[in-house]
Amino acid sequence: MGGTDLFRLDGRIAMVTGASRGLGRATAIGLAAAGASVVLCARDRTRLEEVAEKIRQAGGEASTACFDLADLAAVERAVPELIARHGRLDILVNNGGISGWSGLTDSTLGEWQTMFDVNVTAMYLLAREAAKPMTARRWGRIINFGSYVSAIGRERLTAYAASKHAVAGLTRSVAGELARHNVTCNAIAPGFFDTDMAAPTVGDPERSKVFRSAIAMGRFGDPAEIVGAAIFLASDASSYITGQILHVDGGVANVLSLPVTVAT
Ligand code: NAP
Repeated sequence: MGGTDLFRLDGRIAMVTGASRGLGRATAIGLAAAGASVVLCARDRTRLEEVAEKIRQAGGEASTACFDLADLAAVERAVPELIARHGRLDILVNNGGISGWSGLTDSTLGEWQTMFDVNVTAMYLLAREAAKPMTARRWGRIINFGSYVSAIGRERLTAYAASKHAVAGLTRSVAGELARHNVTCNAIAPGFFDTDMAAPTVGDPERSKVFRSAIAMGRFGDPAEIVGAAIFLASDASSYITGQILHVDGGVANVLSLPVTVAT
């Protein structure tokens, strides 16, 4: 196998959480186009069916599994149920997540716990259950969605940023434990993408201008621009890469970008 064949996913079964919208939807469509049979997960059954139908119409394979990432008992059942239906799981994409703004002294323990249940605990449970069939078959890919705040802090984003730091620690530790079984675990850290989650920023002209000035490429990412990284980390092309946090962010994390008005 060589060249672009390294990126093919034919015969692989992939589970993608948060596949009803945004980056998860784009990832699921991309993995299916690369040949994977995709199981689309989220709460909104109607939207999931629309995505599944789009994949089928393009000649791909897709099915759906509806559950709430905050319902940890349902999350724990999700991989065993998928195995019962499909017989195997090769690729897990832990993309589904929530964000939320709150000043520290106004924030509540309930908000914090929900953030961690959805963004971290569900990810841990899915990775734990997926690791069992993957290690047994000696092939697997776990891809977790972190964020540009997986490595830095941001005011009024304490719970979200802490949860995304946890994603980085989870990713590196799981990678270390599963590496000898030929199962990799990496994270994608998106910058600013034009999705529902980022709508309050992208949709506000003033905020949008400020944020664009912090992005080296000077623009928000299109969800389709996450797909290359996802296929790479899901495929044989990344067979010797594990425990990495791959920033897909137009230069936010690694390039100092001065506001447009200050730049030379
Ligand atoms: P989005 O547009 O808000 O979509 C979130 C997805 O997660 C939806 O499919 C949603 O489906 C699902 N989801 C949310 N809560 C859920 C729950 N309780 N149970 C099950 N599914 C749930 O977000 P996005 O922008 O695509 O973000 C995707 C990932 O990238 C997230 O992990 C996010 O933290 C990360 N990220 C995004 C950006 C960005 O700029 N967009 C930046 C950094 C990191 P349902 O509502 O149908 O359940």
